[in-house]
Order: sequence, then C-alpha cells, then structure tokens
Amino acid sequence: MRGVVMHEPGDVRVEERDDPEIVEPTDAIVKLTATCICGSDLWPYRGVEPADHVLMGHEYVGVVEEVGSQVTNVKVGDFVVGSFVISDNTCEICRSGYQSGCVHREFVHAGIGTQADKARIPYADGTLVATPGQPDPELIPSLLAASDVLGTGWYGAVAAEAGPGKTVAVVGDGAVGLMAVLAAKQLGAERIIAMSRHPERQELARFYGATDIIEERGDAGVEKIKELTGGLGAHSVVEAVGTQEAVMQAIGATRPGGHMGFVGVSHDVKVPGIELFFAGIHTEGGPAPVRRFLPDLIRLIWDRKIDPGKVFDLTLPLDQAAEGYKAMDERRATKVLLTL
Ligand SMILES: [Zn+2]
Repeated sequence: MRGVVMHEPGDVRVEERDDPEIVEPTDAIVKLTATCICGSDLWPYRGVEPADHVLMGHEYVGVVEEVGSQVTNVKVGDFVVGSFVISDNTCEICRSGYQSGCVHREFVHAGIGTQADKARIPYADGTLVATPGQPDPELIPSLLAASDVLGTGWYGAVAAEAGPGKTVAVVGDGAVGLMAVLAAKQLGAERIIAMSRHPERQELARFYGATDIIEERGDAGVEKIKELTGGLGAHSVVEAVGTQEAVMQAIGATRPGGHMGFVGVSHDVKVPGIELFFAGIHTEGGPAPVRRFLPDLIRLIWDRKIDPGKVFDLTLPLDQAAEGYKAMDERRATKVLLTL
C-alpha cells in the first residue's frame, strides 16, 4: 500500500509500505476512504518538531476490512470515523469523558500514520464509531473533519463553556478555530467573536456563525475584545493556535470567572504564574477527547445540521501529498483533503 513518510522537515514522500495486519484481537484494519493534512503536521514540516522518516497522518474515515476476534462494536463493511487518539473507551478515564487520556492511549500520528491506503486501528471498539450506513460522497469531508478538527474545536468550545447567553471569542482562524466557531453556534452562544486577518477565513467564520471579527492581535486584540464586552472580557475563550502570543491573548480576553478552553498544541509557551493568578479564570484543555463527541457529531453531520467539510479548501490525490503540505505551509490552503 501507499503511505506518506516525512524523511526530514520539508521532505514529504509517498512510498510503498507493507499492508497492515491484525496484531491484537482488539485491532481492526480500515481501508481508508479519505484522509487529510492537519495544521499540526506543519510543526515537523517546518522543523519546529523533529522529523526523521515519520509516518504521517492521524485523521481518517474508511471501511472496516478486517477485525480481530474480540472486536464487537464494528464489523467488516462498516463505514467508520475514528478519533486521532486510540482509546479503549472502558477505563475510568474514558468513562469520565476524557478518552484522550485513556490508560491505553496511543496517538495515531505516532506510528500508525493514516495518510495511507489502510491503517491498523488498535482498540477498535473504543476508538471507531460506525456511521448509520454508507455515507453519500458529499458527506465524507464532514465526517473526516469529525476525526480531529471538528472534535477538537468542539471540545475547545465545551471546555470554554460556550452556551446560551455567552460571548465566545475564538483565537485562531485555522481549521480548529473555525470549527470552534461552528461549535459555539451549535451550543447556543449569543455572540461569537472570531479573531482573523484573512478575508477568506473571516468569510468562513461568518458562515459558521461568527457575529464579530477582530483583526488585531496580542494586547491590541485583548483591548478590542474588552471594548466589545463592556470592558469585561468574553465569558468563553477558545485558544486554537498554541503560540505564546495566542495563549496570552486568550488569557487576557477571558473575563474573571470566565472559562478558557485551550486546544492549540502548545509550542514553547510559558505562562507567567502571576498573570494566570490575577486573571482568575477557569482553564481546561489538551488533546481533545474526540471520541466523547463522535456519536453526536456524526448524527449532526448525517442529518445535515452542520457542514464542517467546508474547511477543506483543497483536495488532492494522496500521490500529491507533498504539494498539499506545501500549499498549507504557504497558507494557500487552510486544510487539504487527500483522496485515495
Ligand atoms: Zn480508556
């Protein structure tokens, strides 16, 4: 089968790899229908994280081709969506809704690599969710988004306690930030402020429910949010970037007693304790427990209540993965879908 391998930063190749096989009785082999490139794949691509012959990809949808003897929740032929974190969905951490902290957790990007024709998914019963039937082709981008960016943006909004009567600010206009806007809208937020400087992304943010757009960043961005909220700050802030500036902007934009959900993968962020102390806010974040939300998200997509697939603005065949990375690196694309 084919699979994407990052030899070193900036060097992405599609190579022949061995087909995956069932190893544990809890495994499933999924023949992938579509996969994609994540904003987080750009960290190694840009050399911010190491990359030495890494198997790439952690977002996936496809058809179950084979199951181990202990798999009971999905069967051969099912169309499935999986989380980017492997989970058993039975341990105490999973049952409390934090499947990304499962005692058996494994990150799909670390060793599985779903930018490929097929993937072996461990703990298939606890990781994969079958759709009600075979999806119409037009639903596939949205189902694929549920695998990570939608689930992550959704978690950011839930962690920030977005809901009726709330003003929600979203820091970051990448795919996850846009999905946090969608989630805030679905969760009933009254006002949704998207922070973005890119006209196309501003337009998409408005499509997903943003009521206000702020172009300023850093302290100036914080000031703008305070201006819009009677000097108080937002009730709920989602941090969806992971840089020092974005995290401090999110903390500064949250009103005392408010909630900040942080889902941008943190890179060299150092939060001064004294600023966090005097901010007086609730914080929750980390790798999203996408598995918690998957059944609901699949239902919303299936019933055509949400259209997260619009975050994909470039579609390429898997063989052209290198071009996809380049387009995202150069910001010519927000998110690239790879067809198989
Ligand atoms: Zn678990």
